[in-house]
Amino acid sequence: MMMPPMMMTIMIALFGLVIGSFLNVVIHRLPLEQSIVRPGSHCPSCGNAVRWQHNVPLLSYLFLRGKCADCGAKIHWRYPMVEFITAVLFLIAFRGSIDIAQFRIWFFIAIGVAITFIDLDHRIIPDELSLGGWAVGLLTAYWDFRNGFGHLALASFVGFGVFFLFATAYEKMTGRVGLGGGDIKFMGTIGVFTGFGGIWSSLMISSLLGVLVGVIVGRLQKNSELLKTSIPYGPFLVVGALIEMLYEVSKWMNV
Ligand SMILES: [Zn+2]
Repeated sequence: MMMPPMMMTIMIALFGLVIGSFLNVVIHRLPLEQSIVRPGSHCPSCGNAVRWQHNVPLLSYLFLRGKCADCGAKIHWRYPMVEFITAVLFLIAFRGSIDIAQFRIWFFIAIGVAITFIDLDHRIIPDELSLGGWAVGLLTAYWDFRNGFGHLALASFVGFGVFFLFATAYEKMTGRVGLGGGDIKFMGTIGVFTGFGGIWSSLMISSLLGVLVGVIVGRLQKNSELLKTSIPYGPFLVVGALIEMLYEVSKWMNV
């Protein structure tokens, strides 16, 4: 697809904003088992439907100064932030041509963003995202930009298996659940999209971040009980996998 780079950048940014806007709906409704297509967006405060001109990603938030056009209730800053983050990641992860490999990357970023915020809010990773994502990943693995189908399928099962054994051993030894089932399934998704490189990076970076955040939270709260409550692990896994994936994309671009 030939297009001037400037035009392409704008198109991808807009695409990222629209997907980010949809992810807000997913993040909000999926854990509540609500439909993500109907009804349309409405203000949680006054219940009025959001008119299309007030539903433009990022711009409407700025134009309405973060308030509902009808009742003036504050719109959470996280909505525009999710849109912005998605657009920025879509741009960074662009390999220069639009093909199935590129959509695989964008798809993985999208589920990563959704999982991060759902796990923060509810401490769960819905199967629709982990297993659903895994199925999409496996079906499109043949077209990956760097790893072959066999590598990705194997990485997916090894990632899942290692995490499963790790979680079972931890539970046996401490009598506590360390890693949720959602984390374990999501590891399979990471494998099918990012291969062994992503699995490795995800394990390393997430355990480093996990310890770091655990210590900081422990210091701040000075409450030993809190260390026993689980810190959502999904966001760390996402960060680890995305760092590796974006690094690989940047290497690809420099060839
Ligand atoms: Zn309202």
